[in-house]
Amino acid sequence: MAQTINIAVAGPRGKMGSEAIHMIQETSHFNLAGVIDHKHEGKMVADLPGLPELERPVYTDIDRCFSNETVDVLIDFTHPDIGKKHIQKAINYNIRPVIGTSGFTSEDVDYFTKEAKAKELGGMIAPNFAVGAVLMMKFSQMAAKYLPDVEIIEKHHDQKKDAPSGTAVKTAEMIHNNREEMTQGHPEEQELIQGARGAEDQGLRIHSVRLPGLVAHQEVIFGGDGQLLTVKHDSFNRKSFMSGVRYAVDTVMNLDTIVYGLDQIMD
Ligand code: NAP
Repeated sequence: MAQTINIAVAGPRGKMGSEAIHMIQETSHFNLAGVIDHKHEGKMVADLPGLPELERPVYTDIDRCFSNETVDVLIDFTHPDIGKKHIQKAINYNIRPVIGTSGFTSEDVDYFTKEAKAKELGGMIAPNFAVGAVLMMKFSQMAAKYLPDVEIIEKHHDQKKDAPSGTAVKTAEMIHNNREEMTQGHPEEQELIQGARGAEDQGLRIHSVRLPGLVAHQEVIFGGDGQLLTVKHDSFNRKSFMSGVRYAVDTVMNLDTIVYGLDQIMD
């Protein structure tokens, strides 16, 4: 039987955090040690609306959570500024971070990777835990070698705070790794309304759509002479991310550094 992994979840009332708690409950070798919120100190998970009937404590102080409970892994789905504080705390306490919170720059990733490496601590920062989305990124990286003119359209619900999405940024990074540096579009093109051509990243344009009804969607469009290739992925609900989160929790137990992206642990 697999060894029990004790997990703390930060952001338990959120859309992703609450889904992660259901996933933990459905996984026989996972145990929810406690949750980290910024409200509801002294309550139990069972007291929070929409969460399972679990007598596990809610902490508003992450230090108290990590000191009082046995925690092997921290799952964080909060906000970009909070996620960065939490990952640092997890590393300080030798707790393996699995971070889904977006907004980590490549400098942040490098910094926390060094911090974890010094302690030989495994962890993951993943902009997208949906296995299909990771394949979409990998296919895009492959295509960029042959069809280097490419634009990304990412679409998310209108409650998302950051733009472009972490998935779009990671996709762009993977594409840049597989094509020569270049500019795209007409050299003299002019935006008649600011932002019309989207955000520019080493010549590649990223367009962010925010609308109610959307969850997480991305199209990567490659243009060549007389042809278009579109690589597209849709997450229709938050459950789509959970098999990837489960896989990450199991995998970080056997890593000695932080890895960036689920693609790094998918063969
Ligand atoms: P959400 O529904 O807004 O959830 C965030 C939760 O964090 C809220 O319940 C919020 O509470 C709570 N929170 C705020 N400050 C906190 C603190 N100091 N400590 C603990 N909890 C705190 O957002 P979401 O859709 O779940 O997304 C969360 C993050 O995951 C975002 O960065 C999003 O981009 C990212 N995401 C990642 C993936 C992936 O696959 N990696 C997929 C989807 C989303 P209040 O509501 O009271 O402020």
